[in-house]
Amino acid sequence: MSSRTPHSVHVSRHPLVAHKLSILRDRTTEPKKFRELVRELTWLLGYEAMADLATRPERIETPLEPMDAERLEPRVGLVPILRAGLGMVDAMLELLPTSEVWHIGLYRDERTLKPVEYYNKLPDAATVQVCLILDPMLATGGSAAATVDILKQWGAARVKQVSLIAAPEGVATLAGAHPDVDIHVAALDSHLNERGYIVPGLGDAGDRQFGTFAGPSSEPGHGPDDETAEVVRRLQGDLGSD
Ligand code: URA
Repeated sequence: MSSRTPHSVHVSRHPLVAHKLSILRDRTTEPKKFRELVRELTWLLGYEAMADLATRPERIETPLEPMDAERLEPRVGLVPILRAGLGMVDAMLELLPTSEVWHIGLYRDERTLKPVEYYNKLPDAATVQVCLILDPMLATGGSAAATVDILKQWGAARVKQVSLIAAPEGVATLAGAHPDVDIHVAALDSHLNERGYIVPGLGDAGDRQFGTFAGPSSEPGHGPDDETAEVVRRLQGDLGSD
């Protein structure tokens, strides 16, 4: 992590996280194993991301005597970024079964890399205090920043991003737009390539979870698109200029 990494970024230092992430990145790891690892990494990162949630005192009785115990105070909402974030939902629900799961559909325009909203059924007023945005890959940060905009407007008091791997470009976009949003990741990688993939990364997190390898056009290194490459160059220029 460089001295320029924003304070809101928390890169896990846990050896189990490093070990599991290495197997996840390996190109020979099959979708079944890949999904298992996404689940296990989500437990570990979720545990770290929720470390500062408030608790309230609660009087309970154990079989032996009454005592002052603690209960989690805020209501928590899980907001997976479709589609790759879906693989992180069940793991988070296992950690915190009372969480609410809210879906906001944003897709990344493959050419401009800009987020386009296509699904949002949030009720008028926020029903949770803390939202965890789930996305295995924080790449350009465009979808993350747009999702935080929506959640803050909704009334969520705190928003955190939980990702497996982040690119510096994505961190800069999200932390620049929302410095108050904690970003929990297993690794902060080198850069985005001209197609908007994180390098070294792990390839397409959606394809690798769901086994949707549709041929050469879904290969991360395949066929640079001028417009996409231009967006990545702009993000990298922004990074270099501060
Ligand atoms: N989305 C992915 O699935 N992988 C990347 O490297 C970047 C975005």
